[in-house]
Amino acid sequence: MPNRNQLPHEVHLTDPLKSITPRPYPKCDVCSALLKEWLAVSEPASTSFDRAECSRIAAEINEHRRKDERRAPAM
Ligand SMILES: [Zn+2]
Repeated sequence: MPNRNQLPHEVHLTDPLKSITPRPYPKCDVCSALLKEWLAVSEPASTSFDRAECSRIAAEINEHRRKDERRAPAM
């Protein structure tokens, strides 16, 4: 007799809010300012924790880093 309590494994779909690791460009003021913002919302224990905002800022940092790297060689 099949076990009716056996549920299929939970399917993990791609999480659109999957955390992005910000990679700020060294010595870029814009990147470091964004990183400060990111740190404020990325701490789950913090009252300002915001998953969506966290991803948005991280993506913005990485986007800015690409611009920085185009202007100057990576360190
Ligand atoms: Zn930058």
